[in-house]
Amino acid sequence: MILGLDVGGTRVKAGVLAGEALRAFQMFPRPEAPEALVEELRRRFGDLSRLAGVGLAIAGLVQAERLVQAPNLPRSWWQSRREYEEIFGLPVRMENDVNAALAGEMMVGAGKGAESAVLVALGTGVGGALWLKGRLWKGVGLAGEVGHMPLAPLSGPVCRCGNRGCVEAYLGGWAVARWIETNRAQGRIPADIHTPEDLATRESPRIQAFWDHYGTVLGQVVVALLHLLDVERVLVGGGLSRAWSRFAPAMQNVLETMLLSREFRRFSVEPVAHPEKAGVLGAALLFKMGGDA
Ligand SMILES: [Zn+2]
Repeated sequence: MILGLDVGGTRVKAGVLAGEALRAFQMFPRPEAPEALVEELRRRFGDLSRLAGVGLAIAGLVQAERLVQAPNLPRSWWQSRREYEEIFGLPVRMENDVNAALAGEMMVGAGKGAESAVLVALGTGVGGALWLKGRLWKGVGLAGEVGHMPLAPLSGPVCRCGNRGCVEAYLGGWAVARWIETNRAQGRIPADIHTPEDLATRESPRIQAFWDHYGTVLGQVVVALLHLLDVERVLVGGGLSRAWSRFAPAMQNVLETMLLSREFRRFSVEPVAHPEKAGVLGAALLFKMGGDA
């Protein structure tokens, strides 16, 4: 049995992989340091020494088996695989969380059966990952930064990264939250709408116009990805993918009108199958596969 972990800015997700099934999936607040996580895991899962190892998905840049950059994690988490092996007392395989989520989807989720895919993760930020010819494509470590592909570099809104017109400045949860705030303050949407989740469940012409615009922008991103990579699947994940039914029609419309050689392409755009668990699953499955998948 392998322990899968997905360590994010605010939460840890954990589960035990037995065969291809995930058991005892749990979610809890992220402890301040990895040593405290081990204590928490012992309380929740019992003796860890019976496990074959740990697949660790983590929210940051993993290079040469070391977490080297993680804006949402304290420095105590910036460790190497070897250091994590000492902390857990078990063999560890580390992977960036979005990469791990895509690996999970490819092996036991919405990407199953495909040789190539892109994941667009619509969370507070916009993440991405690439799977080409049956394995993760990481570049030198940073591949898949879909959120910071420039869409409108001269005229677009300012992004958290400091550039203008990034994908994230249109599609990220923080950008949606800002739209909600502005429109609520102007009385253009009901006063009890606070989060993107609220916005996904409410109906009004103005709200639908927002989701149509959202889908149009996402459609353009998908067109850019398909023109560059011609992958078989584009998977859409992250919290905002719950609004799929609101933005997918506008997105499909863009694909139909903008994609070159559409009739020759063999692709589908789909929501992920395991929005909460893919990172845990992927981290554990990558550990099981061994090597540098
Ligand atoms: Zn940016």
